[in-house]
Amino acid sequence: MTTEFIPAAKPIIGDEERAAVDRVLRSGMIAQGPEVAAFEREFGDHFVAGRTAVAVNSGTSGQHLGLLAAGVKPDDEVIVPSFTFAATGNSVALAGATPVFVDIEPTYFTLDPEAVRAAITPRTKGIMPVHLYGHPFLVDQIEAIAKEHGLAIYEDAAQAHGASWNGRNVGTIGDFAMFSLYPTKNMTSGEGGMVTCATDEIARNVRVLRNQGMEKQYENEVIGFNARMTDIHAAIGRVQLTKVNAWTEIRKANAAVLTAGLEGLDGVVVPTVAPGAVHVYHQYTIRVDAAERARIQTALKEEHGVGSGVYYPIPNHRLPSLQHFAPGLELPATEKAASEVLSLPVHPSLTAGDLERIVNAVAAAVTAGA
Ligand SMILES: *Cc1c(COP(=O)(O)O)cnc(C)c1O
Repeated sequence: MTTEFIPAAKPIIGDEERAAVDRVLRSGMIAQGPEVAAFEREFGDHFVAGRTAVAVNSGTSGQHLGLLAAGVKPDDEVIVPSFTFAATGNSVALAGATPVFVDIEPTYFTLDPEAVRAAITPRTKGIMPVHLYGHPFLVDQIEAIAKEHGLAIYEDAAQAHGASWNGRNVGTIGDFAMFSLYPTKNMTSGEGGMVTCATDEIARNVRVLRNQGMEKQYENEVIGFNARMTDIHAAIGRVQLTKVNAWTEIRKANAAVLTAGLEGLDGVVVPTVAPGAVHVYHQYTIRVDAAERARIQTALKEEHGVGSGVYYPIPNHRLPSLQHFAPGLELPATEKAASEVLSLPVHPSLTAGDLERIVNAVAAAVTAGA
C-alpha cells in the first residue's frame, strides 16, 4: 500500500499556465491590460453568458466593491449566513453596512429561507447567500422572499464555478455575484476574483472603484481602491478556464465514488444534492459525531495519510472580529454544522486508488470510535 499523503486540496498548474505567464513577462506589460480584458470576456462567456464580468485582485475585493457598486450604504443591513468563510460578512462590514447573521438549513448548509424572512427589517437592503461547498443556495425560495420584500440578492459564488439551479448558472441570479480565483478554489489565477454584474451600471461602478475611482486617467470621480488584477494573473486564469469543465466533471465523479463508499456507514452523513441543482464539489463535506471529529481527523492524517478540513469551525457571529454585530445570537443549525462537518479530498488529482484509500480510511476511523 502506498503511504503518500493525500492532501485536502491541490491546485493544478501545468506547462500551459507557466508558458502563459512567461509570455506576459516577456511582453514587459504586466499590469492590468489586454490579458485581463480577454479573461473578463472569456469568463463571462463561459459561466454567465450575457452578463459582464469584471476582474479584481481577490474574491473579497470583488464582494466589497460589488456591494458598493450595487449601492449598499452605511445604514443598510445585508442578511448573510454565519456558516461561511469570514469574507462574506467582512465584505458587508467593509462596505460600512451591517451584516445580519442568520441560520442555515441543515441539508445543504445554505441560508434557511424562513430564517431570512424572520431577519428582515426596514433597514434590510439585500441578501448575500453563499453557494457553499459548490452547492447552490435554495434559489427559488430566497428569490421569492427577496421579490416579496423588494430586496437585492448578492451572490457569494466563491466556491461554485459552474454550479447551477434548474438550468440557471450561479452568477446570473443576483444583482452581482463574486467568484474567487484563490489557488484552492475550483479554478485559480493565483489570487483574484470576478464580479459578474446584472446591469451595465453595476459593472461600470466596479470598474471605476477598482481603479482609484476613475474611468478616464486622472479624472477621479469617486474615492476608489487599487483592486486591479494583473495581466500575469489573468493569463493563468485564462488557461485554467479551458480546463475547469473537465475538472468539475472529475470532482463530480470523485464525489459519486466517495458517496457510494460511505453511504450507509454508521456515524457518517454524506452530502446530498437538491433536485434541479448541479453541485460542483468545491468541498465534499460529510457530518460526523461532534465528539468524535477531532479524533477522526487525526486518525485520517496520522494512521491513513489522508488530509481533511473543517470549513468552518467557528461560526462568523462568534468570531472576535464579527461578534459585535450579533451579541448573544444563537444559531442552532449553524453551531451544529460547525461542530460536525468534515471535508474530505475530492480534487481532480485523486486517483482511483486514492479514492479507495479515503473511503477505507474514513470507515476505519469512524468505526474505531464505535
Ligand atoms: C474564498 C472565499 C471568499 C473570498 O475569496 P478570496 O479570493 O479568498 O478573497 C469569500 N467567500 C467564500 C465563501 C470563500 O470560500
